[in-house]
Amino acid sequence: MTQSYQREDYHGIWVIAEQDGDRVNHVSLELLTKARELKEQGKLTEPVTAVLLGTNLAKFPAKLAEAGAEAVIVVDHSALRYFQNETYALVLKELVGARKPAIVLMGATAAGSDLAPTLGAKLWTGVAAHCVDMKLNDEGNLVAVVPAFGGKVLGDILCPELRPQMATVRPGILGKALCFPHENYQIEHYDPSSALTKDKGLVRALGISYEPVQGVPLEEADVVVAGGFGAATEENWQLVETLASLLGGAVGCTRPPLDEGWARDYQMIGTSGKSVRPKVYIGVGISGATHHVCGMKDAGLVISINKDEKAPIFEVSDIRVIADAATILPLVIESLQKNDEDEVCKLA
Ligand SMILES: Cc1cc2nc3c(=O)[nH]c(=O)nc-3n(C[C@H](O)[C@H](O)[C@H](O)COP(=O)(O)OP(=O)(O)OC[C@H]3O[C@@H](n4cnc5c(N)ncnc54)[C@H](O)[C@@H]3O)c2cc1C
Repeated sequence: MTQSYQREDYHGIWVIAEQDGDRVNHVSLELLTKARELKEQGKLTEPVTAVLLGTNLAKFPAKLAEAGAEAVIVVDHSALRYFQNETYALVLKELVGARKPAIVLMGATAAGSDLAPTLGAKLWTGVAAHCVDMKLNDEGNLVAVVPAFGGKVLGDILCPELRPQMATVRPGILGKALCFPHENYQIEHYDPSSALTKDKGLVRALGISYEPVQGVPLEEADVVVAGGFGAATEENWQLVETLASLLGGAVGCTRPPLDEGWARDYQMIGTSGKSVRPKVYIGVGISGATHHVCGMKDAGLVISINKDEKAPIFEVSDIRVIADAATILPLVIESLQKNDEDEVCKLA
């Protein structure tokens, strides 16, 4: 199957923004800031555009504009209340086909990772998935940077012939969104009725439930205490949680604690998990596999506890503690608790 079109007809950068009814997903904001950087780099003239699908969307465009959107296309329809792949892809296919953006970006979230390939297939174009960076080359083509071989190699992915060029980007990897002057952004309401009449999809989303995040969310924490397989046993895992709680931080993990059922999937840090940039990262019993290091390498101060002095995590650590986690964690916790009690005594 081929599609006849002129590459030259496609202009500008779109970000498909994600919202949960209360908040815009932070990766959409990060992407808008990145889109402004790409626009400047490529000396593009078209406004950076956010596309927002759902219902009751009035409160979101200003937030998108603050992060860099110069135009917002609002697609508000009851059929779009909950994300569903087929319906969203149909609407976006029609919208992209009509307006022809050169670049379409989404967060590599559960929804974005589901939607991007479907939309890419419908538009007969390529999608670079789970990118960690993006730039424009001298020809103005998007260069999407994607880790390969467990993060040991960074590959440049281009889609030079087909349009639009699509990419999904991992949450947190681009850094925090900037704040732009946003008084004069354009807003447009798009009626998706014609696309929706073509929706013969068999799947209907009836609701969305979110697993409540316990404690401080990883992405927002200044302190992250991450436990690995060397934190060993469920009882010791509670020591990791106690330390995080005493420091007012969030608990992170590597893959094995997830597999063991000690930690939850939203706590995993790394190529298949989250990217974090806390001021302080404390890794307990973590070997330092590239899959994990990819997600924490931008942390401020890195403290690692490992009983193996040759553990690779020490190569990316500022403070190395060669010790058995089961011995040292209770001592650190006791000392922190004692400090707390002393403070209370002083105040009393
Ligand atoms: C496609 C793919 C994607 C992946 N994505 C991710 C990802 O996103 N995030 C991720 O984390 N992993 C990911 N992994 C898994 C990753 O490759 C590693 O296997 C994992 O990170 C190792 O976890 P770990 O360091 O906790 O365990 P191990 O590698 O088993 O290391 C345990 C460490 O603890 C130390 N230790 C043991 N006992 C003690 C003790 N009592 N006190 C102190 N130290 C001790 C050991 O010396 C060792 O260094 C992925 C793998 C694949 C194939």
